Amino acid sequence: MKKVLIIGAGGVGSVVAHKCAQHPDTFGEIALASRTLQKCTDIADSVQERSGRKISTHCLDADGVSQTVALLRELQPDLLLNVALPYQDLHLMDACLEAGVHYLDTANYEPPEVAKFEYHWQWAYQERFAQAGLCALLGSGFDPGVTNVFTSYAAKHHFDEIHELDIVDVNGGDHGRAFATNFNPEINIREITAPCRHWEEDAFVETPALSTKRMFTCPEGVGTYSIYRMYHEEMESLTRHLSTLRRAQFWMSFSENYLKHLEVLQNVGMTAIEPVTYEGKQIVPLKFLKAVLPNPGDLGKTTTGRTCIGCIVRGLKDGQQKAIYLYNISDHTQCFEEVGSQAVSYTTGVPAMIGAKLMLEDKWLQPGVWNMEQFDPDPFMDHLNTCGLPWTILETDPLLSER
Ligand code: NDP
Repeated sequence: MKKVLIIGAGGVGSVVAHKCAQHPDTFGEIALASRTLQKCTDIADSVQERSGRKISTHCLDADGVSQTVALLRELQPDLLLNVALPYQDLHLMDACLEAGVHYLDTANYEPPEVAKFEYHWQWAYQERFAQAGLCALLGSGFDPGVTNVFTSYAAKHHFDEIHELDIVDVNGGDHGRAFATNFNPEINIREITAPCRHWEEDAFVETPALSTKRMFTCPEGVGTYSIYRMYHEEMESLTRHLSTLRRAQFWMSFSENYLKHLEVLQNVGMTAIEPVTYEGKQIVPLKFLKAVLPNPGDLGKTTTGRTCIGCIVRGLKDGQQKAIYLYNISDHTQCFEEVGSQAVSYTTGVPAMIGAKLMLEDKWLQPGVWNMEQFDPDPFMDHLNTCGLPWTILETDPLLSER
């Protein structure tokens, strides 16, 4: 039985705490730390009510490495599971190295002053983690995370060579609010408004944000949605680790209403990340916007509909061209009934728990810094089926008519 310290008591942190509590054989002790203690205690109360398990709660500013090291030394967890914000990644990796604790996160490091989603800052820790005999697993959410594992599973079981990858993330849910983001508004808007990059032959090609659109019909009656091409961090690691990939694209669904709000907010400067002076104080417009937007963690009660996220993979098997579509569909209402969160937090928190479980059970534990596709996908895929995110494979290409 192992001990885990979860950092971050937001929408995703809540799901991770609830899901870890469902697996007492692996997660013998659970601790939760975040900047606002009350959020930790609210989650702990819900976990106790739903599973009967007690988790300890702690107040922590994870930007302070020494504070985190002190907490790690006090609690002595086997693994730190980081579901705070990407800004904390490097501070938490430093703290793990100092205290001798394994590390996992769901989003790659971003410097606060520039919206750049790149792995090089974290890959640079490879030697230090390897030498310390510690394992860091990067991007164990859904996308990145499950999408990486879907791709490596396709490579292992369905293809001799993968040539093309389209990752399609559809949220067919409705939260009943005029405008809200699916996860942390600041991180979400930085990601969506960044220039698009997709992989063509052997380099990333840049195009304006959200300038390429397709229609996409999801399986199982989830519906038909407008999807927009954008950059997403798993393309960087997948194109590095799957050398036969000639083209990789990421698509996300947005409603007309969402895009109209975003356009207006951008036009008036509310999505800017450079500080402005307001009444003698420096404020970042996007941080202020986050403060007035709905908290995604609170949207669970009112959100209905389903998410559909998957990978369309094309390539060669036995000399023949083929395509497969590997996807998961999650229902917002069912997720809320199980853990009190909507499906976007759920689909991120469950893979974080599974990644942690495989590390703690020594199945995915090697010294160094790793992306999800570098480990054997099979145990992860098995856990998805048993832990709430069942998947389906179709021998079809749902984007064929759109290409
Ligand atoms: P939230 O904003 O709901 O939660 C973030 C939590 O981190 C909050 O509780 C916040 O505390 C805490 N936090 C922020 N800064 C610090 C700090 N310096 N020290 C300690 N705690 C801090 O975000 P989400 O739960 O929606 O997202 C969590 C993470 O999951 C993000 O990194 C996001 O990018 C990632 N994600 C990954 C996805 C994937 O599929 N891979 C999909 C969706 C999200 P406070 O409440 O006090 O502000």
